[in-house]
Amino acid sequence: MSVNNNKKILIIEDEQKLVRLLKTNFESVGFEVYSADNAKSGLAAMTLTSPDLIILDVMLPDEDGITLCRKIREISDIPIIILTAKVRESDKLLGFESGADDYITKPFSSAELIARVKAVLRRSEGKNNTPKDTELLLGNLRISFARRKVYKNDQEIKLTPTEFQLLYHLAINHDRVMLHEELLKLVWGPEYQSEVEYLRAYIWRLRRKIEDDPAHPQIIVSNLGIGYSCCTPNLLRS
Ligand code: CA
Repeated sequence: MSVNNNKKILIIEDEQKLVRLLKTNFESVGFEVYSADNAKSGLAAMTLTSPDLIILDVMLPDEDGITLCRKIREISDIPIIILTAKVRESDKLLGFESGADDYITKPFSSAELIARVKAVLRRSEGKNNTPKDTELLLGNLRISFARRKVYKNDQEIKLTPTEFQLLYHLAINHDRVMLHEELLKLVWGPEYQSEVEYLRAYIWRLRRKIEDDPAHPQIIVSNLGIGYSCCTPNLLRS
């Protein structure tokens, strides 16, 4: 189990049930898992979390996974496994030509995918894929998603895993309003999508930790009755 410690996986897929299943299974064998439900936030998440491997679905709401794979390859040689429902041989070739390291066809078992991930990671060992740690500045808050640490005025603050996930999803989608149900689905799961009171309580707890004045928040802004948005971050490369 310990061999997977500190290995980070980023899953870019909009099918939330599948993401949660994979998250649970990968976490149970010691991986750290991040997710994004569209191509744009997936690219942002890649920059912020410095994953060791990306699992990328071909069908995404904003862009197809093959195009995204090509974009990632322009800036990184991080291992990529493509998920697809397509079974035609030409699609497989397209996947490899776009720079993917492996390809798995839906439906597949978690065990099968974990085995593929381990094989791809073994193959890429020794190669230095690790991009420089990128920190995110939100006002006087400094966040390293890669190291899972948050600092306010250079003092480390402790977030619970749920608070951290909430901040992460707001940060990778900082250029738009995240709807209540969207955040609930991403952080808690599809069965929680109407629990707005639940989200409100967590946002309040998060604000008490990160905002200078939680009653007048500057980092996580409310869009009344609709959702929340994150202020524009600055990136800092260490
Ligand atoms: Ca999909």
